[in-house]
Amino acid sequence: MKLMNKVAVVTGGASGMGEAICRRFAKEGAKVVVADYNFEGAQKVANEINAETLDAATALKADVSLEHDTNAMIDTAIALYGKLDILVNNAGIMDGFEPVGEVTNDRWDKVFAVNVNGPMYASRRAIALFLEQGSGNIINIASIGGLHGGRAGVAYVASKHAVIGLTKNTAFMYAKKGIRCNAIAPGAVATNIAQSMGTVSTFGQETTGVGMAINPAFGMPDQIASVALFLASDDSSFVNGAVVTADGGWTSY
Ligand code: NAD
Repeated sequence: MKLMNKVAVVTGGASGMGEAICRRFAKEGAKVVVADYNFEGAQKVANEINAETLDAATALKADVSLEHDTNAMIDTAIALYGKLDILVNNAGIMDGFEPVGEVTNDRWDKVFAVNVNGPMYASRRAIALFLEQGSGNIINIASIGGLHGGRAGVAYVASKHAVIGLTKNTAFMYAKKGIRCNAIAPGAVATNIAQSMGTVSTFGQETTGVGMAINPAFGMPDQIASVALFLASDDSSFVNGAVVTADGGWTSY
């Protein structure tokens, strides 16, 4: 029970890694707000969590690309539970594989609205409370695309580099205020996003020339939830501003 009496908001909690993080946090004693623009999906996850652990989860509809929704998400969590300890900015989209010569403004804006503006809006709202509390913990789900140039289109890669910049600056600016902020950089993980990429191993070989140095080719969402649990718990109390790669060795060359 590493998160006993903690309150967490997880965006994109209706599926994939977000869902796995919600389930794991609840198992570890946290109250979890499962936030997603797919409200039915969020409700299903929250109901299943509550069937196992009474009143551990609440579903919330929130489109993180809209500041109003994101603020309401943080405010509702605080209204429900009286505090907030952990914010996991997980919701993200991988839309398109175009390099800069081909990317449209619409694509760029859409990817940045969800992947970058969302975490910024949610962090900004949460930080106000964290400063009052003198404590808080933000975990941003970036990507190995936030550390390397290949593996996806320019909008996604640039957005995930921005998420890592947001992470490091937040850690640096609030380190003395009892607030931590870290990022996870997953490799290929078996979720809807990975499926939308087609055959990830082929894509990796084509874009990097290096191939997938991992077997099996995909990680599982629960393996990312384990990293999130470490970063959310006091086990990582001296870890701040870090980017934890969890890719099975794909980028180890
Ligand atoms: P997923 O599609 O299964 O989950 C993403 C969730 O985010 C979905 O439930 C979706 O409804 C929600 N979402 C999307 N846009 C939203 C919005 N505007 N507002 C609220 N919710 C929204 O995919 P996943 O792989 O679990 O993705 C989780 C995170 O992991 C993303 O940030 C993604 O970029 C990152 N990531 C994924 C991989 C991978 O291989 N799957 C690798 C590296 C990083």
